[in-house]
Amino acid sequence: MILHIDMDAFYASVEEREDPSLKGRPLVVGGAASARGVVSAANYAARVFGVRSAMPTARALRLCPDLLVIPTRGALYQKVSRDIRAIFQRYTPIIEPLSLDEAFLDVSGSEKLYGTSEQIGLRIKHEIRQELNLVASVGVAPNKFLAKLASDQDKPDGFTVVQPEEVQGFLDPLPVQRIWGVGKVAQEKLNQLGILTVSDLRRQSESQLESAFGQTGRKLWALCQGKDNRVVVTDSEAKSISHETTFDQDTENLDMVESVTLSLLETVCFRLRESELKAKTVNLKVRYHDFSTVTRSRTLDFSTDSTQIIWRTAKALIGETLGRKQFAVRLIGAGVSNFDDGNENQIQGQEDLFHRLKPDISSEPVASKDTQLDALSDEIRRRYGKNKIRRGKSLPKE
Ligand SMILES: [Mg+2]
Repeated sequence: MILHIDMDAFYASVEEREDPSLKGRPLVVGGAASARGVVSAANYAARVFGVRSAMPTARALRLCPDLLVIPTRGALYQKVSRDIRAIFQRYTPIIEPLSLDEAFLDVSGSEKLYGTSEQIGLRIKHEIRQELNLVASVGVAPNKFLAKLASDQDKPDGFTVVQPEEVQGFLDPLPVQRIWGVGKVAQEKLNQLGILTVSDLRRQSESQLESAFGQTGRKLWALCQGKDNRVVVTDSEAKSISHETTFDQDTENLDMVESVTLSLLETVCFRLRESELKAKTVNLKVRYHDFSTVTRSRTLDFSTDSTQIIWRTAKALIGETLGRKQFAVRLIGAGVSNFDDGNENQIQGQEDLFHRLKPDISSEPVASKDTQLDALSDEIRRRYGKNKIRRGKSLPKE
């Protein structure tokens, strides 16, 4: 069985934990309205007002004038994320993080030692509450698709188990848009065909769905029957690590696109270094307001785990993609692939790249200084959490 564990209102809950006087007040973690900031996370008291993550902070304040806006403390959330991961590791090494606050765990091999997957899920939920004073929602199911649906079923503080014989009964009443991969556009198309729930969808034949949706149709057909063969892949076995985010409102603000990409890459690179991996290829994904999607990659001639180098490469890709025309971006994704577990030439390679990127650089070995900065920042994240070493807006500017 697979567990999907998802922290409830993660950043906001961590802030409430750090300062209990905030509890119950509507608050968000995110950028200031005056800086065209965006909400990263909203607590449940704020959600009552319609405040959501990825919404411009200015709009959130219009919805809820008493809203408390707390600046993002990325390093703190990284540290808490590590504490959560340490609890997962008591039960299984097969952990696939989806973000700082969400992961799949394969506990199939752990049942002899720790009890049924349901018991393991309950123990993890309990330990997160007892030891970290935070609340997680847990889904337990035969595969990833179902486990993720299950964890979302009863949020916040949810615990939902879907046994193999209960799969169809669990899925059938759900609205079609709960199926992985069904976005707004597909949902409209399905609804127009009179398909509102999973059971409606299941009555279609595979070939009907295929002719309406192509390749996606075949996936939908499998998913609506609860079939999903994807395995839980740990970071060190993964072929790529990436993160993406959808803007609450399409944005034409290049600064905002760049700063969101940088924060996505900080998490990507942190995961890369945690897994002792280096990557050669940097990937960027941009979805525009009309849902057209562009992906671009650049392969370096060496592998790296340096946030600085990966960010500079991504920034160049953003420039090439968005630089020359009017754009309204709906979603941005960034990541790395083409992993390598390392060889002697890397440091040299990094120095070469740095000299190319910054031809005015002094004779100081910049690459190793940069590596030291990453290591220092990771170490501070591990030990103290509260550092202010986050790369600010000063870094994107050259
Ligand atoms: Mg969450």
